[in-house]
Amino acid sequence: MNIGIVGDGPRCEFLIEFIQQSEFPTMRPRVVALANDRVNAPCVVKARDQGIFVTTDYNDLFNRDDIDLIIELTGREDVFFDILSKKKRSVRAFDSKTAELFWEVSRASRLHRLAEEELSKAKTLYSVFINQLLQEDVMIISPAYRIIDVNDTLLKKLGLKREEVIGKTCFEISHHRNTPCEGEHHPCPLRDAINSGKPSQTTQMHYDKDRNEHYYAISCYPIFEGSKIDALVEISKDITRDIEIQKAMMQQEKLASVGRLAAGVAHEINNPLTTILTTAMLLQEDFAPDEPLFKDLKTIADETLRCRRIVTNLLDFAKQSKPSKKQSDVNMLVRESVALIRKQAAFKDVEVGQFYSDSMPDVYLDKNQIQQCIINLGLNAIEATDSGGRVSFETSFLADSGTVAIVVRDTGEGISEEDMKKLFEPFFTTKDTGTGLGLAITHGFVQQHGGAIEVESKEGEGTAFTIRLPVKKDGQDE
Ligand code: ADP
Repeated sequence: MNIGIVGDGPRCEFLIEFIQQSEFPTMRPRVVALANDRVNAPCVVKARDQGIFVTTDYNDLFNRDDIDLIIELTGREDVFFDILSKKKRSVRAFDSKTAELFWEVSRASRLHRLAEEELSKAKTLYSVFINQLLQEDVMIISPAYRIIDVNDTLLKKLGLKREEVIGKTCFEISHHRNTPCEGEHHPCPLRDAINSGKPSQTTQMHYDKDRNEHYYAISCYPIFEGSKIDALVEISKDITRDIEIQKAMMQQEKLASVGRLAAGVAHEINNPLTTILTTAMLLQEDFAPDEPLFKDLKTIADETLRCRRIVTNLLDFAKQSKPSKKQSDVNMLVRESVALIRKQAAFKDVEVGQFYSDSMPDVYLDKNQIQQCIINLGLNAIEATDSGGRVSFETSFLADSGTVAIVVRDTGEGISEEDMKKLFEPFFTTKDTGTGLGLAITHGFVQQHGGAIEVESKEGEGTAFTIRLPVKKDGQDE
C-alpha cells in the first residue's frame, strides 16, 4: 500500500520512520509522497534524502496514480474535507485523529512485544542462573510447601524428572515424609521464613544409603508480591566435607592440648608415685602374706603401678614428637610385636593367627612407634575376645595406592555404633581399668607417618583395625 502524507511536524517524521522500520506482513505500506509547505522542515529533508517525492502543494498528490492512501496530519478540518472532495474514488483518506488512533494502537502493541521480549530475556537469565551458575541445590517452593521449580543439579541428585517433582511437596520429595520437617535433625527453614517474612538459615543432617552422615546448610529466601509471600527460594549446600575437616582440626587441637598437659604433669607425678610404691613394698616385708595389712599394702602397690602405667601412657602420648624413621621390614616388626603379647593371649586362651604377605616392600617408619601401635591394637583385641576366640595379624601390600596394610582382627565383642564415633578420643574407655589413651596414641603415631587407621566392627562378631602406611618417604622426610 502506497501512502501520501499531507502535513508537518514531528508526527510526520515519526510516521515515515515508523512505517519504514516496522513489519507489516500483509499490507506492506510505503510512503511515496509528502506534501508540506515548509521546504526545509525536518520531515521534508528526511523524505527528500530517502528519495520520496516531495511537494509544497498537496493538490499534486491527486494527480499521481501510485497513491492508495492519503494521511492528513495538519489537523485542519478544511484541508481534510478538501482532500476528500478532490481525491480519486479509489484512494482512501485518514484525518489526523484517525492517524493518531492508529499510532496509539501500534504503540501499545509495540510495548506489549517489548514486555514479552523482556520476559523471555528474564526467563533465560533465570534458567542460566539456577541451572548453570549455582552449583547448589535450588528449589522454588510455594508457601503451601508445593514445589514450583527445581534446578538441574538437584534433579540429577534426586534421579527424577522435572515433571515428577513439580506440584509435589518439598518434604515428600526431599525427606519422604507426609508432614513438614521438624525436630533436631530436620528443622524447617521454610516455615521460619514464612512466619517471619525474612530469610532463614539452618543445617540439616541426612543419612545416605550406607548410613553415612551428610550435613546440608539450607537457606530460604521469601519472594514478595506486594505484602504477600508469593514463593520461597530454597538453596541447599552439602557441607559434609567442611564439617569433617572442622572435626578433624578440633580432634588435632584436643590431642595437642592433652599432649601439652600430659607432658607438664606426668613428670611431676612419677616421682611421688615411685616413693609410694617403694614404701608400700618395703612395708609389705614387715608382714606375713596371710596378714590383712599385707593384702592392703599389695592393693596400694598394685594401684600405684596402675597409676604409673597411666603416666607412662600419657608420656608416650605427649611424646608425639618427630618420629625417627628408617627403612624397615614390616613383617618382621609385626612378628616381634606378636611375640611380645603372646603371653596375654595364652593366658586368656585366645588363639593367635599370623598371615604375612611375601611381596612386602620395606617401609620408611619409626619402629618403636609402629610397634607400639600393633601392641595397642593386639592387646585391645585380646581383651575384647573371650576364651576360645581368635586374634589374627595380617600384612599386605597394595601396589596401586603404594601402601602397606597391617590388619589386627578379632572375633570378640565388637564395638557399638555409638562408641565407634569416640574411639580415637583421648580418655575414651569402656574398661574399668582402662586409660583410654591406646587408640589416641596409635592414631597420632599413624598420622605422623602420613598413614591412616580404619575400623570395621560388628557387635557380637568382632572387630578389625587396619593401619595403612605409605611406602614412599613423604616430601618432609627427604
Ligand atoms: P583402653 O584400652 O585403655 O580403654 P583404648 O584407647 O585402647 O583405651 O581403647 C578405647 C576403647 O575402644 C576401649 O575401652 C574399647 O571400648 C574400645 N576398643 C578398642 N579396641 C577394641 C576391640 N578390638 N574390640 C572391642 N572394643 C575395642
